[in-house]
Amino acid sequence: KFYACRFCHNDNEDHELNRYNVTTIQCIKCEKIQPFSLTCCNCNQRFGEQICYKCKLITGMTPDSKPIYHCDGCKMCNVGIAELNIHCDKCDGCFDKRYFQEHQCGMLGEQCMVCMGDLKKSIYPSLVLDCSHSLHFHCYETMLKSQNYQCPMCKKLMLNNEMKDEFNQDLDEVYQKMIPLDFLDQFCLCLCYECNQKFVTYQHPNQLYNCSKCQSFNCDMIKDADCNEFQKQLQLFPNQRLPKLPTQENITSILEKQYKISIEEILQKLNIEFNELTLTLFPAIVENLPEKIEDLKMFFWNDTEEFEEFEEVG
Ligand SMILES: [Zn+2]
Ligand SMILES: [Zn+2]
Ligand SMILES: [Zn+2]
Ligand SMILES: [Zn+2]
Ligand SMILES: [Zn+2]
Ligand SMILES: [Zn+2]
Ligand SMILES: [Zn+2]
Ligand SMILES: [Zn+2]
Repeated sequence: KFYACRFCHNDNEDHELNRYNVTTIQCIKCEKIQPFSLTCCNCNQRFGEQICYKCKLITGMTPDSKPIYHCDGCKMCNVGIAELNIHCDKCDGCFDKRYFQEHQCGMLGEQCMVCMGDLKKSIYPSLVLDCSHSLHFHCYETMLKSQNYQCPMCKKLMLNNEMKDEFNQDLDEVYQKMIPLDFLDQFCLCLCYECNQKFVTYQHPNQLYNCSKCQSFNCDMIKDADCNEFQKQLQLFPNQRLPKLPTQENITSILEKQYKISIEEILQKLNIEFNELTLTLFPAIVENLPEKIEDLKMFFWNDTEEFEEFEEVG
């Protein structure tokens, strides 16, 4: 009996088709019965794009079918191109050649951590990351395309060294934009996913934190921290890369623009030297600052109405 494919066979028979036992096919056009092949020996009708005599498989019958190659190691046909993939006997799976050399041999997991599909019996090549977590190669490419660079298991970057440098450089550009004045006394404790270092730094409007040990931006804030914790941090890591802080000129122009009052007037009211005001806005550098900052905030960051009241009273 003849069927269009093994699924049609299985739907109509009480047993599953063992496709390795298929020896003959019948041409759909001229109905000639002949040995398993890609084109009809009688009318030259093509049955598909690719044929595997070992698996008795013909593919390419639908426009969206992907290329396949037979791997003797996997004992089956995989999706992909033979020249781009290589079989590892120890891992019992096929890998993309570009990542084969550095693949963590013997660490191939059972399950893809992205789609939860089987890795060893899969028709798709796999990838073992530096962190030793594994996934399908096409699942990896899909994640990169959607700009998802962290390993779903351990959050380490799934990038090679060159790509990691690029990742950090891109974020450094954003990091180097000046932080707003009201972030100057906001600190937080962070964790670096690359080296597991914990560190205290300024909070950042773009949630960017630079590891004090390995300089990676693959970090997250854990919780708020205070000025004293930040001072301790700076003693341990005096060269820590901080976000761009406002200069004296920046602060002056921001205050003048925001409150339409000249810096001289502000200084007069506060009765302090310019340098002291500047330093006061950098709480980590001056001792006993939290209270002073609160005073200044009362003055500068209240809404305009209250500010005018203050002005009249003062
Ligand atoms: Zn069918
Ligand atoms: Zn034919
Ligand atoms: Zn293989
Ligand atoms: Zn095959
Ligand atoms: Zn291997
Ligand atoms: Zn997958
Ligand atoms: Zn991982
Ligand atoms: Zn780090």
